[in-house]
Amino acid sequence: MNEHDQEKARAIEESRRLRQEKKAAAIERSHQFRAIKGLRDILPPESAQWSRVEQTAREVFGTFGFAEIRLPVLEATNLFARSVGQETDIVSKEMYTFIDRTTELRPEPPIGEMPSYVEEIGRLMESGSIPGTEPNRATFKYLIALGKEIFPIEEKLSELGKLTEYLFQLHGFQLGDSVSLRPEATASVVRAYIQHGMQTLPGNVKLYYMGPMFRRERPQKGRYRQFYQIGAEVLGTSDAPGIDAEVIEMLMRLFERLKLKGAVLNINSIGDKNCRPAYVETLRAELQKVREQLGADSQRRIETNPLRVLDSKLEHEQAIIEKLPRIADHLCDACRAHYAEVKRQLDLRGIAYQENWRLVRGLDYYMRTTFEITATGLGSQNAVCGGGRYDGLVELLGGPATTKGIGFAIGTDRLVLSLQEMGEGATPGGLDIYLAWFGPAAQSAAIGLARRLRDAGFVVELPAVEMKFGKSLGLADRLKARNAVIVGDEELAAGTFTVKRLSDGTQKKLNESELFEYLRGERA
Ligand code: AMP
Repeated sequence: MNEHDQEKARAIEESRRLRQEKKAAAIERSHQFRAIKGLRDILPPESAQWSRVEQTAREVFGTFGFAEIRLPVLEATNLFARSVGQETDIVSKEMYTFIDRTTELRPEPPIGEMPSYVEEIGRLMESGSIPGTEPNRATFKYLIALGKEIFPIEEKLSELGKLTEYLFQLHGFQLGDSVSLRPEATASVVRAYIQHGMQTLPGNVKLYYMGPMFRRERPQKGRYRQFYQIGAEVLGTSDAPGIDAEVIEMLMRLFERLKLKGAVLNINSIGDKNCRPAYVETLRAELQKVREQLGADSQRRIETNPLRVLDSKLEHEQAIIEKLPRIADHLCDACRAHYAEVKRQLDLRGIAYQENWRLVRGLDYYMRTTFEITATGLGSQNAVCGGGRYDGLVELLGGPATTKGIGFAIGTDRLVLSLQEMGEGATPGGLDIYLAWFGPAAQSAAIGLARRLRDAGFVVELPAVEMKFGKSLGLADRLKARNAVIVGDEELAAGTFTVKRLSDGTQKKLNESELFEYLRGERA
């Protein structure tokens, strides 16, 4: 290659590189700032459906004497480890957890000042603003000792290798508490109940909540990493079966009001600490006999949590599970009586149910009544609501042992999805009036008119800048406004407004009170 060719090759190479860089930058730009995997935006008009569901829940729950509790989205990780259970998938794999650095500690200083920084950490550990955990204490001790060897660093240049170790250890400090985005809200409700001494309130404490929950699950239809729940809890000293039945009645009332079709209520009793342990052992023994025929997950659960085997959806395990001992045959007298009364109370309320002996909850504090509601149009993720009695939870979290609880959580995403699948719940909404104005004097009149129309409850679009007549009315059409109200010099002079029904072009000139009357008629 001569020099000229080399030059040319370099130029070609350079322009190829530039093109590639440009392309990479464009790809990067197009990928920038998308919602994180498994998290999604809920946009209009779907968001109106969400509001309708939430509003209906507020109304229905309100009529049963429930009041709203608004809870933090972040809680101490330990709250969930203790309540949901350290060994559950939710806590062991799916929580979004991070260390919340204490605000009392200054940012990391230059190397020369590190010893005083470590001393500061020690003081904060004593005062409790940095967790005084075993590893933190050990690291602190080690750093003090190591610091003596290597500081002041200018005089001990031979110890520089140890500085790396010093920094490594320093960065191992847990500078704040471990917090998690809530994967569910029952634990938070119970925490709040205890924290605010709600056991002193008269009667049962009836609370509902709604909001986002976070679980790092594999995303699919009806399963998201940020999903929403509407839930309710009853906390108090009574565990009367009538409470269980009323909670379920409230739920079914909500689904009825929302016109959710094909909702099926499954119920079961999982016993209590008197009868369940023996059943679990019987179940475990039976499972051992068929161990080889089970999948890996179920095999593991024989040891960790045999009840969860009953949840299995694996095709080839179904016939085996059908033959396993059933909890209904192992309930103690008190649990059997409680369950029978829950069913009678449901009958009194005219609520249909299916008994499902495989409906279980793996955690110790869950007891007696459990229930789940499935809906249509959801594929494999067809549970829209799960609930049950958790009489041991308040005590487990440090509250009075006498407080019992029952509650449920509706998966709002799935509820809305199911309503959509059946074409239910689309809200009419939309724009009542497009208020077209032409000229500065008309703008001022239009601003006043828009305010009065909105006060009367009309949905009004008022263009922010003046537009040509054709363009303005074209936009009114595209926005699907029902009526255009036109304010121009002519209207101002006559003290009237022109109103045009956009579906058929009917046009009228009306004064303001006639206009309001006409528009009310249009809305009816
Ligand atoms: P749980 O708190 O696991 O008993 O769930 C109660 C309800 O929340 C379920 O019946 C679902 O409707 C809903 N749900 C649970 N996890 C998710 C998720 N990852 N995405 C969407 N909905 C969920």
